[in-house]
Amino acid sequence: MPKTLFYDITTQELEDQLRPLSQPGFRLKQIQQGLYNKLYATFDELENIPKNLRAELDDRFLINPLSLERVVKSRDGNTEKVLFKCLDGSLIEAVLMRFEHRNSVCVSTQVGCPMGCVFCSTGQMGFQRNLSSGEILAQVIHFQRLLHAEGEAVRNIVYMGMGEPFLNYEQVSKSLDALSDPERLGIGSRKITVSTVGVLPKIAKFGGDHPQVNLAISLHAANDELRSQLLPANRIYPLHALMKACREYIAATNRKLTFEYALIDNVNDSLDQAQEFAELVQGMLCIVNLIALNPSKDYPTPGSPRDRVEAFRQVLVDNGVQVTVRLRRGVEINAGCGQLASPENFK
Ligand code: SAH
Ligand code: SF4
Repeated sequence: MPKTLFYDITTQELEDQLRPLSQPGFRLKQIQQGLYNKLYATFDELENIPKNLRAELDDRFLINPLSLERVVKSRDGNTEKVLFKCLDGSLIEAVLMRFEHRNSVCVSTQVGCPMGCVFCSTGQMGFQRNLSSGEILAQVIHFQRLLHAEGEAVRNIVYMGMGEPFLNYEQVSKSLDALSDPERLGIGSRKITVSTVGVLPKIAKFGGDHPQVNLAISLHAANDELRSQLLPANRIYPLHALMKACREYIAATNRKLTFEYALIDNVNDSLDQAQEFAELVQGMLCIVNLIALNPSKDYPTPGSPRDRVEAFRQVLVDNGVQVTVRLRRGVEINAGCGQLASPENFK
């Protein structure tokens, strides 16, 4: 029988597995502490539990489903992209961005992505499969191990790697439960952000299930014509419906939404488009995150020059919209937003 991935099971499921083994109640906590906190790579390291139970766990469970294929670091050493191989041979990427006391990890949720956003390397490679919650967690755990060895820890997690999280809602949701559970990874929900291109039916559900986790919406255009060209998902979930769902999300959770907008040279970066965008989001509890588009293989248009980013930002600010301009990180190692695809993009 193939082993179950340990990080795929819930606390309840672990409890159910332990029950017939007639173990004392505190075993569950010991096992979870060993695997989620001390980050043991083998059950043998659980020295505080009996040897036969360690052997039993080893028979049933596999701890690490990802093998490290390649690592590349940015010139300044602060951004690190890794290529993992899953058990079935699929390749996925994850990124660590080191900031002082704010180490941030970007995880993938799918192998590829079916949404086909034209400027996104992941979209350009097509869709292979969903990742399981344990495969999502294992990406975080890899970096947590690395940082623990340096006396540091993962502080922030962004679901902005390969894939559309809301097309893999159930597994994403399970992984969020494990990350935020103090008995497991214990990373505060408010330190976690999930980014979606706008899979409408899941927005309200997410607000109900994970009201403390941050939500980012990838907008990139403020009218349906342009947005449908850039993001084919807009043809299914058009802007007015998306914005309505966003307003309802804010009303239900009272949480500030983030709108992502990648500025593309002479495509979506004019002052008129900035004004249109400002009017779309004006008065909403939100923050706009601007970034100059990163290069990808099949999309020739470059990101906007710096002065256009600044001019665009100014229009939003003048309209009372809160804006941040995201620093490009890891672009020279193709670890920037929308640059994750494997393996030809790995350099
Ligand atoms: N599928 C989700 C999350 C992964 S993409 C989503 O689309 O939101 C993470 C972010 O990177 C999204 O905001 C996405 O629009 C953006 N992105 C994709 N390609 C990009 C590129 N070439 N340059 C800059 N940002 C890009
Ligand atoms: Fe998928 Fe997001 Fe890339 Fe669009 S931007 S193709 S939704 S990963």
